[in-house]
Amino acid sequence: MRYNKVLEDIKIYEAGKPIELVVREFGIDAKDVVKLASNENPIGTSPAVEKAIISNANKAHLYPDDSMFELKDALASRFEVKEENIIIGAGSDQVLEFISRAVLHDKASVLMSAVTFAMYEIYAKQMGAKIYRTASYEHKFDEFMEAYRMYKPEIIYLCTPNNPTGDATSKEAVLEIITAVDKDTLVVVDGAYMEYASAKDAKYAITPNDLLGFENVIYLGTFSKAYGLGGMRVGYGIGQQEFISELYKMRPPFNISTLSLAAAIAACKDDDFVAESIALHQEEIQRYETFAKENGFSYIDSYTNFITYLLEDNMDSTKIADALLKRGVIIRNLASYGMNALRITIGTKAQNDVFFKHFSEVIV
Ligand SMILES: *Cc1c(COP(=O)(O)O)cnc(C)c1O
Repeated sequence: MRYNKVLEDIKIYEAGKPIELVVREFGIDAKDVVKLASNENPIGTSPAVEKAIISNANKAHLYPDDSMFELKDALASRFEVKEENIIIGAGSDQVLEFISRAVLHDKASVLMSAVTFAMYEIYAKQMGAKIYRTASYEHKFDEFMEAYRMYKPEIIYLCTPNNPTGDATSKEAVLEIITAVDKDTLVVVDGAYMEYASAKDAKYAITPNDLLGFENVIYLGTFSKAYGLGGMRVGYGIGQQEFISELYKMRPPFNISTLSLAAAIAACKDDDFVAESIALHQEEIQRYETFAKENGFSYIDSYTNFITYLLEDNMDSTKIADALLKRGVIIRNLASYGMNALRITIGTKAQNDVFFKHFSEVIV
């Protein structure tokens, strides 16, 4: 077989391990497995969403409304933008794919922070583009501008809050980078965890509307995290109409299922559920901070629904993650990102109790 050459340099994305795998490999009962690996909403899904999914079950034989009018309408009123500014993807991941295909080619390059969302690199490599990274995982103005001037990348990725580190970049700092680059470089602002950052500190709150004045900027959001719809695969991109129209050329028809559409529409209208999720999260994340302080290791101050524990040299993230897995606790080892660190999604109180119990035993 003659494959596309670009594949030689692509590593397959390693998703958080599913509960089913732990059940199969270690014979642990599914109900005893605690999954804190993929930044899903630990409370689950809003009852209004479940109702919407069930009441649409009898429409499974029909293609969905490909205009996605109702969802775009709900998002347009939430963010005070127009329907023409919005494109929907099967997760914001799919919008990232549309962007890469619309902008990149084998002479192009992209710029991102040292440690950030792995899919930026994978989509860029699929297009044969070159990858440049800054020295720090934080989004530092000077580092970005130096690399920008040197490489003139087609795309700059600003992930705020950043995954897998959990830190955020202020709105002021993001706007500083955006205004300093030329219009022929696209800036992607990935706000997958923005709901958590906005609730923690208004300085970090960025809305799509803040960026709509720039023709070369797109904001990405997702229903997978705070909205509790990871299994439904719905995300969105918001930008100026001209760029959004170009992205539509990359979109396959019916890219969101009927049930996913119904779920996202209901989720968009249920602010109480998101508020409740964030309130629980803010309470529980304090336990992770206290645990780290009491046990003498450091963590990155988090603006997301996960926390990143930084381990000293006398601890090995791979060993600890493997030991936890055998006990039915799934977390994310960051060794593949070049960090001796663990990323743990903040769970419910009961899930976090289980985590602390096993983690305490594993680290001694
Ligand atoms: C989770 C995540 C996404 C997208 O998730 P989807 O489920 O595809 O919407 C995008 N960016 C970051 C940084 C994420 O963590």
